[in-house]
Amino acid sequence: MSGITDLHVHIQPWNMLKPDVSRALAGSRHHDHQLIEACQSDPGRLIAHLDSEGIQRVALINYSSPDVMGFTDKVNEWVLDYCKSYRDRLLPVGSVHPRFSSHPGDEARRLMDAGMCMLKVHPSHQLIHANAYRDGGEWPGLAEIYGVAQEAGVPVMIHTGTSNFPGARNKYGNPMEVDDVAVDFPELDLILAHGGRPLWMDEAFFVLRRHPRTWLDVSGIPPRRLLDYFPRLESMAHKVLWGTDWPAPGVPGLAANVASFRELGLSAEIQDAILEGNAARLLGTR
Ligand SMILES: [Zn+2]
Repeated sequence: MSGITDLHVHIQPWNMLKPDVSRALAGSRHHDHQLIEACQSDPGRLIAHLDSEGIQRVALINYSSPDVMGFTDKVNEWVLDYCKSYRDRLLPVGSVHPRFSSHPGDEARRLMDAGMCMLKVHPSHQLIHANAYRDGGEWPGLAEIYGVAQEAGVPVMIHTGTSNFPGARNKYGNPMEVDDVAVDFPELDLILAHGGRPLWMDEAFFVLRRHPRTWLDVSGIPPRRLLDYFPRLESMAHKVLWGTDWPAPGVPGLAANVASFRELGLSAEIQDAILEGNAARLLGTR
């Protein structure tokens, strides 16, 4: 697979959103609101947009968060169905919510059998610590999810860093909690989404350096500020994954972000690894 992989794009069924969340999102995307809505209802429209932006493939991050965002577990069927005609370019990502699932392990296995490429855990929107299965933690089902993903060789992306959506709780955003997960599931590929930005970059980088199977997803960080956030980024370039978080508030766009990343002046080899090679290595033929 050659071409740029954007591993963090949010094409999601916005009609499920709670009204206050929906207002926060829509209000932030005046300029490309129509494009986003067109993409949501027609994957062919998204493919045309990827072509015009020079992007080969995208991972479509969906997760269940009924009480905070409004997304129920129906997002899983939605994203699998959305991606099915373009599986070489659209990678479905879904989730099992430990607080809303009676059989989290079984559900995770079912999603993988159905073709989910990755699972997402969103602590600040699911109101659960990434390591909430430990120390007598309330949610042992989370360990089942990690265990099933590890066994299946499917990566798990964990949101780290803050979130400003109404109802999000930011005490859950510290990437240091992923340290436990990486210790307990050493063969599981764990992606630290957003690298803990803007509060916990040191913690994220520590976890990244310590554990061989952890990856850094740079989405949601303005690309021109990437080296301010992570001054030693180049030393870990083989574990850095490209992502934008489009169309989240404040993200300019798929191609615009790539252009601003290229202006950082990193070597061609490092740019290629971050934009293309690392994702290909992580995802294999998925
Ligand atoms: Zn995101």
